[in-house]
Amino acid sequence: MKKLNITKIRADFPLLHQQVHNHPLVYLDNSNTTQKPQSVIQAMNDYYEHDNANIHRSVYNLSERATQLFENARDKIKHFINAKHRHEIVFVKGTTEGINLVADCLSRCHINAGDEIVISAMEHHSNIVPWQFVCEKTGAHLKVIPVSENGELDLQKFTDLLNEKTRIVAITHASNVLGTINPIEKIIEIAHEKNIPVLLDGAQAVAHLPVDVQKLDCDFYIFSAHKMYGPTGTGVVYGKEKWLHAMPPYQGGGSMIQQVTFPKTTYADLPYKFEAGTSNMAGVIGLGAAVDYIQHLGMENIVSHEQDLLAYATRQLQKIPGLRIIGTAPEKIGVISFILEGIHPHDVGTALDTYGVAVRVGHHCAMPLMERFGVPATIRASFGVYNTEEEIDVLVESLLKVQALFK
Ligand code: PLP
Repeated sequence: MKKLNITKIRADFPLLHQQVHNHPLVYLDNSNTTQKPQSVIQAMNDYYEHDNANIHRSVYNLSERATQLFENARDKIKHFINAKHRHEIVFVKGTTEGINLVADCLSRCHINAGDEIVISAMEHHSNIVPWQFVCEKTGAHLKVIPVSENGELDLQKFTDLLNEKTRIVAITHASNVLGTINPIEKIIEIAHEKNIPVLLDGAQAVAHLPVDVQKLDCDFYIFSAHKMYGPTGTGVVYGKEKWLHAMPPYQGGGSMIQQVTFPKTTYADLPYKFEAGTSNMAGVIGLGAAVDYIQHLGMENIVSHEQDLLAYATRQLQKIPGLRIIGTAPEKIGVISFILEGIHPHDVGTALDTYGVAVRVGHHCAMPLMERFGVPATIRASFGVYNTEEEIDVLVESLLKVQALFK
C-alpha cells in the first residue's frame, strides 16, 4: 500500500479548481456523482475527434477502430471486477437501467405469482421500484430486511425471510445514505445455500471497495460509470453467464438480433442480446479510461485514503453540538449522513453552499430509510479520492457558522 499524493491527484481534475461564492469549491457530493479526471475527458474527446463511427456494423477502418475501443473497454471492466467471461459484461445507461433490465427479464422467466423478492430497508429507490413493478406484473411479493439503529442489516431476520418461494435477493453492496458496507459474502452464502440468486447494487461500492465477482459468487453486480470518475449515461450489468443465457432480451431493436423475419426473430449472442440500439460509445470508452485511472491509483490506496477521511470527518463532526450522525455501522464507505438539531437540512445545504461547500441534502432516493430513522431528510457529505482533511475542516467550520446564523 502506498500513500497517495492528493495534491497531484487534484491536479488531474479540472473542475475542482474553481471558486463558488468567492470560496474555493469543496466538493463533498461524491455519492451523487464524482468529478472526472482529464484522462477520462480526453479519452472521450479523442474518440469524437478521431474515431467516431457506429460500432459492430460496418467494414470500414473507422468503424473497426471504434468497435475495438468499445470492446477494449469491456475487457477493462471484465478485469476490473474479475468476471469470468467478457460476455458477462453488458453495457447499459447506469445502475437504474441495469436493475430494471434484470428485474424485467427475470419477471419473464423466473418470477411468478406467489413468489417472493427480498430487498432491504436501506435500498435506493432504483432497487425498490423495479421490483415493485415485477410484483405488480407477476403477483409476487416484496419482503424487506430491517435495518438496525446503527444502520446494519439484521442477518437473522434476513435468514428467516428466505423460504422456498424466494426467487431473488437484491441488495446494495454499500448504502448511499448510511455508508454501511453490507456483509455481502455472508448474504450470498446464506442465499446460495437455498439456491437463491443474489443481485448486488454496486453503485456506491465499485469506486470505493475492491470488487471480485467470481470470489463473491454473486449472480448480478450492477454499477454506474458516473460515480466512479467516469461519464454519465453509462453503466454495467455483470450477470453470470447462466443467468444471461436464461433471460430473454430486455429491449428489441438493432444489434440484439441474429435473424429477423416477420414470423420469428432469433437473438444475438451474449452480451449483444442485451445491447439493443446504438450504444453510448463515447461513454463506454470514458468508463474504460476511468477504470484505468482507478487502477493507476490502486484500489487499496484509494480505500486507505478514504477510510482515513471517514475516520477524521466522523471525529470532527461529532464535536459539533446538536449534530447527530445517522449510520454508525463499524464497516462504512466514506459517506456521512447527519442532521443538525433545529435546522432543516435544506437550510443547512443552502447555507453551506454560500461557503463553497457542496453536500447533498434530501431523502437521497431512499424515502423508506428516512421513515425508518424518523427524519424527512439528512445532510450528506461523501468523499472521493481527491478530498482532503482541510476540506473536512472547512465543512466543520462552515457548519458552526450555519449554526450561529440560525440561532
Ligand atoms: N443505487 C444506489 C445505491 C445509488 O446510490 C444510486 C445513485 O445514487 C443508484 C442506485 C442509481 O444510480 P444511477 O442514478 O446512476 O442510475
